[in-house]
Amino acid sequence: MIYLDNAASTQVHEDVLKEMLPYFKEQYGNPSSIHRYGRLASKAIETARKRIAELINANQNEILLTSGGTESNNTALFGVMRQNKASQLITSHIEHDAILEPCKQLEKEGFNVVYLPVDSYGMIDIEKLKRSITKETALVSIMFANNEVGTIQPIKEIAQICKQHNVLFHTDAIQAVGKIPIDVNEIGIDMLSISSHKINGPKGIGALYIKNGTNLDPFILGGGQENGMRSGTENVANIAGFGKACCLAKENLDKNAAHMKNLRDHLTSRIVSEISHVSVNGNVENKTPNNTHFTFLGVNGEDLIIKLDEYGVAASTGSACSVKTQKASHVLMAMGFSHEQITGSLRMTVGLYNTIPEMDQTVDILKKVVQELRSVSPFKAKYGF
Ligand SMILES: *Cc1c(COP(=O)(O)O)cnc(C)c1O
Repeated sequence: MIYLDNAASTQVHEDVLKEMLPYFKEQYGNPSSIHRYGRLASKAIETARKRIAELINANQNEILLTSGGTESNNTALFGVMRQNKASQLITSHIEHDAILEPCKQLEKEGFNVVYLPVDSYGMIDIEKLKRSITKETALVSIMFANNEVGTIQPIKEIAQICKQHNVLFHTDAIQAVGKIPIDVNEIGIDMLSISSHKINGPKGIGALYIKNGTNLDPFILGGGQENGMRSGTENVANIAGFGKACCLAKENLDKNAAHMKNLRDHLTSRIVSEISHVSVNGNVENKTPNNTHFTFLGVNGEDLIIKLDEYGVAASTGSACSVKTQKASHVLMAMGFSHEQITGSLRMTVGLYNTIPEMDQTVDILKKVVQELRSVSPFKAKYGF
């Protein structure tokens, strides 16, 4: 199998797994306990917290541990809005469902949510952002990089606009962390979401960076862990693994990004030159190094995924989370794609363990599969396949 769905999830790094194992068998204490078992578990959490902070140049006490990217996003949005007198939130049409669904809930609770449009590359309208901020605006939440097409937003410019207007700024950086260097202080970010399983860590663990001095309502109430912000006994093994994944991501960031970019560019250039009626989507000049996204005219993306899977290639039409609900991609719709363009879309996202021979094999398989599907396509005559 060739795994090209690293934006959906990644393989756990060998060293990450090693870091986690002791917390299942020997060091299984509750971090809140006073005895040695408890102290060791608590120490493991603080080591991990430091490593997570270092990846984005934050302070250790600015890292809130959560159950993953989804919870980090929910904590940021509900935590700020529900305690705020100002009632407006500004976001974009191309956010992950882990932002859009909390926004829908906030609208039900009476908050005003403004969704910024994007252009055909998936870049948000900065002028519209400036015009949308009012006295009522409490929070702006714009993703760092998009999970479907990889487009990177001008995050520093957005952060500066928020600062000028005294508005808090949150970013879902789940697809950017570990791929692009991020310094929360230099950029001027107030809150930032991270997920472990997108950076070769375990699933079900993540973090929300909360700049010192930012006030949020707690999301889960109970025993008061995480400074009262998120109660519940900490998932020590996952936290330790996440910490190690951050440490490795920081150490190898340039090397990993170059590796991914090299694979991605090789794959993309061969596909573009060897398959007809194909376009590359997203902002090619400004996208995450692991992402490539295509439209193959006259082909149904779902059929393509199934065929590719039969031949041993794991790819995706877009967001793993919305595939099950069979919705047309809200990201591509916001980018102004036609129904036919959306139908023919395919996302391939490379990772640490992919190789150049795998890219070549993928292109050979893809050529065959696209040709097969086009030979029975209702658009056959239209495009003259
Ligand atoms: C994966 C992802 C999420 C959700 O993170 P989980 O840890 O799976 O809950 C949110 N936003 C983006 C952009 C993602 O890619």
